[in-house]
Amino acid sequence: MSSFMKSESGKRLTALMTQDYTDLHTRAAAGATVVWIAIVVPSELFAGFDNLVAAVPESHAAMCAGRGKGAVLASRAEDAGYSMDLCSYARIDIGTVAGGGADSPTFGLPRPHLLVSDTNNCALLTKWFDVHRRDMDVPHFVLDVPFCYGPQREEDTDYIRTQLLDLIATLEEMTGEKCDMDRVAEATFHTAEAARHWKRFLKNAEARPSGITVFDSFVQMAPFLTMRGRPELAEHFRLLADETEQAVAAGDVPVKNEKYRLLWDNIAPWHQLRKMRERLAGLGANVVAAPYTSCIGSLEGSFAAWDFSSETDPLRALARIQNHSVCPMGLSLRSQAMTGLIKDLAIDGAVFASNRSCKVFSLMQMDQMREIAQTCGIPTVMIDVDHADMRKYNEEEAFVRIEALLEQIDAQRAA
Ligand code: SF4
Repeated sequence: MSSFMKSESGKRLTALMTQDYTDLHTRAAAGATVVWIAIVVPSELFAGFDNLVAAVPESHAAMCAGRGKGAVLASRAEDAGYSMDLCSYARIDIGTVAGGGADSPTFGLPRPHLLVSDTNNCALLTKWFDVHRRDMDVPHFVLDVPFCYGPQREEDTDYIRTQLLDLIATLEEMTGEKCDMDRVAEATFHTAEAARHWKRFLKNAEARPSGITVFDSFVQMAPFLTMRGRPELAEHFRLLADETEQAVAAGDVPVKNEKYRLLWDNIAPWHQLRKMRERLAGLGANVVAAPYTSCIGSLEGSFAAWDFSSETDPLRALARIQNHSVCPMGLSLRSQAMTGLIKDLAIDGAVFASNRSCKVFSLMQMDQMREIAQTCGIPTVMIDVDHADMRKYNEEEAFVRIEALLEQIDAQRAA
């Protein structure tokens, strides 16, 4: 099994992310306005400003968890009185600030001048950013995205677009710069290109054996959260898709003895990526996809590529994609999208990773699991794994269940 971080795209990803965090700190130290954003906030808007940088606490927390620093940073927030029941991203971030960046692989994030959260992740996120508003005495802009049970309504697109204009006005006032809307349009185009190549990369999961594992896509999605709107991101994803297609054509696939093609539901278990990938491969199992990575570049209720050019106003395009990220949509939309993925990728079984940190992702899973088992006729299993706090994960317990899932798949095939 090839090591995904030693591949060309793995090495390029490391270089890209290292450079990005270095630039962030350097530009902040040189006086740029620093904005902390939630992952789904349309960072393409910031391309309209010369002297502004954006940092993403959730992405930084995921990186800390991936480097084995999740527990130490989260416990620093717990020592300050935050409950262990709160989202581990929030605890890691609050703990990073409390420790002045100690234990973070990037020395934390530069101090913000503005916080921008949104309601399309969860209510906790706005409260978490509000902790920083209070403690650091900086303003907090909340982007309100209505939850949806069907396609995003026209009036909701308009409502979100109006808030994007408010955010631009806020940034103009803070920076003293006039937002260059041509550059915002250009950034939106780069995001569309990045999303197009991302879909091309994910399509390699259709190969048998699959050309990718979900663990590759979890790792490779990182720059989409921190570098949206930039040409380097589109170029990285273009090369990633090209290299993966070439590898598949040459028979170089991650799990050669693939007997079981699985789906993962929920956020990545950042602290377990390599271990889980290898242990599963040893069982002939490959998790080939997840809604978490497939939702990039799509609209609510589907994982098909959305045609960004169908919306000529960049602000409307950015508003239109605000419900894509699994959490801000109802059960039937989630199930509809997942059913399509299961069919397209010939999935044999689904692993629902219940995550006590992320209630908004996990609460519907029991119902969705039943629905998927019925509509798709595939075995499913639920395991318990926190995305960033490895203290809330028991590998043996999880694998007992996963192995039971594989046995059910065998039994179904034999029947
Ligand atoms: S609870 Fe879930 S959606 Fe909310 S911040 Fe944490 S990981 Fe994100």
